Amino acid sequence: MYWRKSCPKCHTGDLALDRDIHGWYRQCIQCGYLQDLVAKPALAQRPIAVAVAASASGAWRAA
Ligand SMILES: [Zn+2]
Repeated sequence: MYWRKSCPKCHTGDLALDRDIHGWYRQCIQCGYLQDLVAKPALAQRPIAVAVAASASGAWRAA
């Protein structure tokens, strides 16, 4: 799936839909600009959850 000439960075690039382990994103074919579609809330919460779990078990200080 493509969005023609809809890149917010270069304004002339085409955005292509793709996904990785973090979720779906759109990438500009011309300039490489990346735009997360649904992963931003999950990315904001994941490091906090990991830090809390690690400190609760003492693994954070041991490492
Ligand atoms: Zn672009």
